[in-house]
Amino acid sequence: MNDASPIAPATGCRNTPILKERGQREVFCGLTGIIWLHRKMQDAFFLVVGSRTCAHLLQSAAGVMIFAEPRFGTAILEESDLAGLADAHEELDREVARLLSRRPDIRQLFLVGSCPSEVIKLDLERAAERLTTAYAPHVRVLNYSGSGIETTFTQGEDACLAAMVPVMPKTEARELLLVGALPDVVEDQALGLLEALGIGPVRCLPARRADDAPAIGPNTVFALTQPFLGDTHAALERRGARHIPAPFPFGEEGTTAWLRAVAAEFGVPDARFEEVTAAPRARARKAIAAQAAELGGKSVFFFPDSQLEVPLARFLTRECGMEAIEVGSPFIHKGLVGPDLDLMAEGPVISEGQDVDLQLDRARAARPDLTVCGLGLANPLEAEGFATKWAIELVFTPVHFYEQAGDLAGLFSRPLRRRAKLKLEAAE
Ligand code: SF4
Repeated sequence: MNDASPIAPATGCRNTPILKERGQREVFCGLTGIIWLHRKMQDAFFLVVGSRTCAHLLQSAAGVMIFAEPRFGTAILEESDLAGLADAHEELDREVARLLSRRPDIRQLFLVGSCPSEVIKLDLERAAERLTTAYAPHVRVLNYSGSGIETTFTQGEDACLAAMVPVMPKTEARELLLVGALPDVVEDQALGLLEALGIGPVRCLPARRADDAPAIGPNTVFALTQPFLGDTHAALERRGARHIPAPFPFGEEGTTAWLRAVAAEFGVPDARFEEVTAAPRARARKAIAAQAAELGGKSVFFFPDSQLEVPLARFLTRECGMEAIEVGSPFIHKGLVGPDLDLMAEGPVISEGQDVDLQLDRARAARPDLTVCGLGLANPLEAEGFATKWAIELVFTPVHFYEQAGDLAGLFSRPLRRRAKLKLEAAE
């Protein structure tokens, strides 16, 4: 299995000392994940137990992509709830009863905690158990936290998937579990590649429908498709499943390395691997090359936001010829992103956590060609003449596997083109 294996640099970043920061942060909360999770799980409903602020966040984040019958909503905690004057559990039960009688299509209900529900210590776990007993077997009620207290926005998906793991049925079957909420079209591409390699059975977490929920056991092996699933990874291991460590499937090289790790686990012969991947690899390389012409030689600076930073920095430095100055991530879990760190040549500052003022100082001193950051920082930085990329777009846009590799590179080249155009217009 050595043919097209990525060649690691003499010194990668796995052992680079990590600059750990803890200060003011500029990130969205975990409720944001509901926007892509509710589209993925077609018979699930996400009921946020929160404030009007939470409802506004969801509405404005989902506003551009909302469709007829939304599968998320907010049970608003009123002042009397917050002051402990009303029984919030009774009100929640009434809300859920109303919702489920109106929407028989709902098979999974997630009670999503928020800052206000956590501040008043509303026990949603107890509520979920009580409601599961009341509505089983048609509806399963689970809970997780999407609050903005000590979280970043991708932790919402992690918390949601981790909440599903303890209730997964048990199996002794040898199965591959793909973990991470990918857009259906991307998931289908991945399943097609795995099938062509002769790997199976393959199950997905989350499943598109409750009836397809995967089982788990000591013979389950799992591959993560997103680097922010640390709690889910731990929960799966607690159930006896084994992780297949690999670089994440971003870009041609990342996808090949990810597939190769899974193929090795299932004993796929080299010849078959080459046969299945040669054409899509060539397509991906060509698509990346078209964008890399603009990215090559440019510098990039990552603020900690999506937790995709390490694999993306690996992609941009190795496949697009960029130079990473700083790669900041809210959490650096070497069990997950270690293989990406191995492939990234020593050089960039690797930072974990955030102290936004200090990091802004470093970005201003470095003057990177491209800054990847949250929405709250992007506009002020644009006003200071920086070209920026909103990290959240990387989660909303299909970017995994071969067929999206060119689009992924394009997400980074577009802001550079826009900035060059603005400079040109200003000069005229
Ligand atoms: S969960 Fe917290 S951070 Fe998120 S919208 Fe609600 S109040 Fe704001």
